[in-house]
Amino acid sequence: MHHFHYAGTGLQCEQVSLETLARRFGTPLFVYSERTLTGHYQRLNKAMAPVDHQVCFAVKSNSNLGVLRVLANQGSGFDIVSGGELQRVIAAGGDPGKCVFAGVGKSEEEIAFALRHKVYSFNVESDAELQRINRVAQRLRRRAPIALRVNPDVDAKTHAKITTGTYENKFGIAFEQVESLYARAARLPNLWLRGVQMHIGSQLTSVKPFVEAVRKVAPLSRSLQQQYNIEFLSIGGGIGIVYDPALASGRADWWTSPAGRKILTPERYAQQLVPLLKPLNLRILMEPGRFISGNAGVLVARVEYVKKTGRKNFVIVDAAMNDLIRPAFYEAYHEIVPTTRSRTAAIPTDVVGPICESGDTFCKDRRLPRLKEGDYIALLSAGAYGSVMGSTYNSRPLPAEVLVRGNRVALVRRRQRTTDIWADESVAPWSR
Ligand SMILES: *Cc1c(COP(=O)(O)O)cnc(C)c1O
Repeated sequence: MHHFHYAGTGLQCEQVSLETLARRFGTPLFVYSERTLTGHYQRLNKAMAPVDHQVCFAVKSNSNLGVLRVLANQGSGFDIVSGGELQRVIAAGGDPGKCVFAGVGKSEEEIAFALRHKVYSFNVESDAELQRINRVAQRLRRRAPIALRVNPDVDAKTHAKITTGTYENKFGIAFEQVESLYARAARLPNLWLRGVQMHIGSQLTSVKPFVEAVRKVAPLSRSLQQQYNIEFLSIGGGIGIVYDPALASGRADWWTSPAGRKILTPERYAQQLVPLLKPLNLRILMEPGRFISGNAGVLVARVEYVKKTGRKNFVIVDAAMNDLIRPAFYEAYHEIVPTTRSRTAAIPTDVVGPICESGDTFCKDRRLPRLKEGDYIALLSAGAYGSVMGSTYNSRPLPAEVLVRGNRVALVRRRQRTTDIWADESVAPWSR
């Protein structure tokens, strides 16, 4: 379920008109629906209720403080991948004690910072990292809670750039080496073997790879529990969402594709996994990012020009690949709709940004209603891996972000000032 829909001819986020927001805050503009965020969180939480569990929202999918606070208020923990993300969680009022720290390249400073703030677990990706965490913990006179990230060698069958659970990837520790590495870790005095973790990829639209991975890791986690009394198993994130088509008025279930085929609902995920997880008697952690934030955000843009060349119809908008890189980076599909529904016949359209790159294209030859200068469009499902991947390429300031709850609106990031883009730069003294 999401809360972007047409009321009459105007597209709304909950009870607020997107066009009104665009005029008030300018474009490009990210708009997030609080009810969608909390709805997704609660739906997954409820589906997993039969097992002792904790949802740790993947901060890297959307790290806006306003978004993090909403989830912290729901009781969410957080999956973090850097010291900066932990600082954000703290700034947003989240609980470091519900944070799991992932990533292959944690620095000494990041480890020390996370230890001081008593994160729930370090999800460790190599022998060298184990040694380093032990050393930092020794220096700080602490015991670091750790879990090894197991690479179960299961193909998530998703885009190559977001597959993480096979031996082709840099992530995790090969399944066959995990037991011996735990044995080594157990001999390091400043480590506390608290759990085991896996994450096989992102945007999974079938439950099968999850089932396969849990089946593979279950006996291992049982053995680790017997040997070291570990308390949790994290099954990672990766639950996919529907990008196409994102908007169909009156559609009750976000996860039903146009053909009526169920893709992956939290209920189906839980129904398949709970029977495998419950007998383990471990605390189950989940690290969903996209599932919670993806369909909770849109990017609103204004049409600057319409340009017809030969047989092509280009619509040039004021948002670009620096604001939303997914189409350029992952060949991702985002549904594009006008904020005012029109009855004009659809024509094949390329929606492009102003950046000097051919990759700065949101869609090619897509049938869209005829658009004209000054119209607003919304790129849907832009709440995950959208704003967080933004850059100032072409000296374009980072867009504003707005959070909506019912009929209430909060500016949760003001538009970056252009001069702030180079505020930390200077010219060399010899060229003055
Ligand atoms: C990226 C990531 C996630 C979140 O992935 P989603 O597909 O957004 O759910 C969870 N865990 C780890 C370790 C990650 O790297």
